[in-house]
Amino acid sequence: GAFSKTTVAQLATLGSILFTVTHETLDAGPELPAEAIDAIERAATAAHRHEELFSERAANIKQSAVRDVFDISMRPGLVSLAGGNPYLQSLPLEKLGQTAARIIAEEGMAALQYGGGQGTAELRAQVCEIMAAEGITDARPENVVITAGSQSAQDVATKVFCDPGDVVLVENPTYVGALNTFEAYQVQVETVSMDGDGLVPEILEARIQELQAQGKNIKFLYTIPNFNNPSGITLAQERRQRIVDICRKSNILVLEDNPYGLLRFDGRPLAPMRAANAHDVIYMGSFSKIFAPGLRIGWALVPEHLQRRFYLASEAVTLCPPTLNQMLISAYLRDYDWRGQIDTYRALYQERCEALLAALDEHMPAGLSWTRPDGGFFVWVTLPEGVDTYPLLQKAIDAGVVFIPGAAFTPSDGPSNKLRLAFSAVPPDTIAEGVRRLAKVLADAVEN
Ligand code: PMP
Repeated sequence: GAFSKTTVAQLATLGSILFTVTHETLDAGPELPAEAIDAIERAATAAHRHEELFSERAANIKQSAVRDVFDISMRPGLVSLAGGNPYLQSLPLEKLGQTAARIIAEEGMAALQYGGGQGTAELRAQVCEIMAAEGITDARPENVVITAGSQSAQDVATKVFCDPGDVVLVENPTYVGALNTFEAYQVQVETVSMDGDGLVPEILEARIQELQAQGKNIKFLYTIPNFNNPSGITLAQERRQRIVDICRKSNILVLEDNPYGLLRFDGRPLAPMRAANAHDVIYMGSFSKIFAPGLRIGWALVPEHLQRRFYLASEAVTLCPPTLNQMLISAYLRDYDWRGQIDTYRALYQERCEALLAALDEHMPAGLSWTRPDGGFFVWVTLPEGVDTYPLLQKAIDAGVVFIPGAAFTPSDGPSNKLRLAFSAVPPDTIAEGVRRLAKVLADAVEN
């Protein structure tokens, strides 16, 4: 009788985790009320029975390393160079709050209602304008599908094109969230090497020939041409068409993921692969890095002949993208200086990137190298061959700094001598302090 309802519920949860807890162990322990023992037993046997119901797909679903360190990153005093979070403090928050309130008060019947599965017509037209700013000038609102973040567009693309065992090509390293999606669909992920100018066309071509000679069904190349997450590397303009041509020749689609393209520090954005290739590229964009990731709004620009399947698959998952969020973004794009805000972000992220690079130059031990990105959020650090960065994470946390170990960004689970640093969310002096802390940990690791 001394156990509260909450305690019993907690014990039941515990029971479902530790489903090996048996009567014997309980008998041996401190006396529990029959009610608690019963609750634990029921949870434990349910967990045990349901274990065999999981799909093979679920067994492939992994927790992302980025999510792993998400909570740790929030600890006060810790410098997090882990999460690629955009810097939202520079948004006009108070005014946005008024806009959101106005939308609900004046257009609530639409804003809080289901909407079209493809997204609102207004936002799809505005998305075409954003893509035009990067060089895609022939996009039509009919061919845009608004999705719950570009993460959802990746999921839909994989669902539409891939059966278990099909092959997807990715650059090495690549975005951990995409890898998790591919693995969940039991896709065989094959990597293609990059150099300082991104994906290497000759290596891509050879890899395709090799895999197709083995009878593999390659469905698409997933690529992040601008400021790749995690490496910060940009695919050189002169390679872009070559890569689309190589894929077209082998009947492989290109899935171009471009959430960072507008965040180029200097000069104009490079033309996306989609710009001159309307039939062979599925292009994905997002408001997460240029506006607000919490709204979970992204989009796909899909070739006309693929559009219907893509849109139906997307609708089957979410029915419709969040209406209120789409309307808030539309109002933001209509009534605010979104281009000016992007310029603010470019300057801000450039300053942070320079602070990170300067601190790395100053503090890092010999034998390490790192990329120098032209935009985006990330720098990729290479340690000497043979050093695994995964065991260094705990040491870094103890020293007060967090990074993401490189192994997260490749499909194989093997050791990696790389790590990712994100500069987007941290002010310059905090970045410098983080690098000082990290340098000590890495110097120890390199010496040993
Ligand atoms: N693609 C890449 C390369 C990313 O870095 C991210 C976010 N970190 C995403 C897609 C997912 O973005 P969204 O918030 O639009 O789902």
